[in-house]
Amino acid sequence: MMTAAIGIDIGGSSLRAAIVEHDGRIVRAKSRRLGERSPEALLNQLEDLLQSLGGAGDAAMAVGLAAVIRLQTGVVTVAPNLGWHQVPFAEMLARRFGRPVRLVNDLDAITVGEAACGAGKGATDVVCVFVGTGVGMGAVVDGRVLEGCGGTATELGHIKVESTIDGRLCGCGERGCLETYASGRHLPELVRAKVERGRQTRLVADVEGHGDWKALTAERIEAAAKDGDEVAREVWRDAAGYLGRAIGNLVTIFNPRVLVLGGGVLEAAPSLRRAVVAGINADAARPQLADVSIRDSELGDQAGLVGAGLLAHQAALARVGDEGRVAPRPPGAGVTGGGVGSAAAAAARESDEDESGPTTPR
Ligand SMILES: [Zn+2]
Repeated sequence: MMTAAIGIDIGGSSLRAAIVEHDGRIVRAKSRRLGERSPEALLNQLEDLLQSLGGAGDAAMAVGLAAVIRLQTGVVTVAPNLGWHQVPFAEMLARRFGRPVRLVNDLDAITVGEAACGAGKGATDVVCVFVGTGVGMGAVVDGRVLEGCGGTATELGHIKVESTIDGRLCGCGERGCLETYASGRHLPELVRAKVERGRQTRLVADVEGHGDWKALTAERIEAAAKDGDEVAREVWRDAAGYLGRAIGNLVTIFNPRVLVLGGGVLEAAPSLRRAVVAGINADAARPQLADVSIRDSELGDQAGLVGAGLLAHQAALARVGDEGRVAPRPPGAGVTGGGVGSAAAAAARESDEDESGPTTPR
C-alpha cells in the first residue's frame, strides 16, 4: 500500500502542494503565488510546484478547487475565481502528470481534513461551513464525504434565500443565492446599495481612501460596526440573519456532532460570528442542537491540503485492479479515525515554503 499521496489546494491567490501520509500528516509542503489563470497556465505552474516538492514519484494525487465539479467526469462546470466554464480539468491533469487525479471541491477537501485530523477528529458526522470570498460547505456523513449523484451536493452558497426573479444576482448566474447576501465578494455591493439610497456611513471614507469599493473588507465593516456605524451594523445583522437561519437548518437536517465554522469573513469579524452562532442556536431544532458542538477550524489553511491528500489515498485504494480511470470514486472508504490532528498542523508549520502569499479568504 502506498504510504504517501499528493494533496493540492488551488486557492484564490495561491497554489499549495503537499506530500501527505495516510494518517493526514504533512511530510513536506510548498506553495507559490497563483499566476495566469488559464487551465494550461495552471498546469504549468502546478508542474513547477511539484518539481520543487520533489520525491513524489508516482504517488496518487487529489486537487481541491473552489468550483462546481462533476466528479464522475472530472469536468469543472464553473470556477468563478478562475473564470472557467466546462473545463475537463481532471483529464488534463491526468494527461500532464501521467497518473489518475481526483478533482474535488475545495470545501469537501477542507471538511475531510477537519473531520479526520482537525476540529472534527473522532466524529463520524461533521459539517463544515466557510464564509469567505463565497459561502461554502462540506459534509462528512457517517464517515464519508457527501457528494450527491452528480458530485455537486452541499452547495450552500447557492441555496435560495430570496426571490429568484428579483433577488441579487450571483456569480453562478442565478438570483437570490445565500452568498450574494453574506459573502466577502458581495460585501462592497451590499454597502453601496445602502449608500445609493442616501444612507450615511463612514465606510464611504474608507472607499475614497482606497479609491475602490473592493477595499471594503470584512475587517473594515467589523471595525465600523464596533464603532456604532449604523450601515455596517445593518449589513452584519442582515448577513447574520441569512447565515444563522441557513446554518441552523443544516444542523436540523444533517444532525452533525461537530459543526466547524471558518473562512476569512468569519475570522475577521468576531461580532458577525457571534450573531451567526446566536442565529444557529435560535433556529436549529432542539434535539439536533443538543447534539452539536460548534467549533473553529483547527487546521486553518492546511485543512484543504490534508483533506486532498487523504482523498488521494482513498482514490489510490479505489483504483487497485482498476484500469486507470480519470477520477475514481472511493467505494466507501471512511475518512475519519486514525488522524494526527496537531501533528499535521505542526508539520505544515515547519515545512519550508517558496513563497507565502496572502491567504485569500474562502
Ligand atoms: Zn449562486
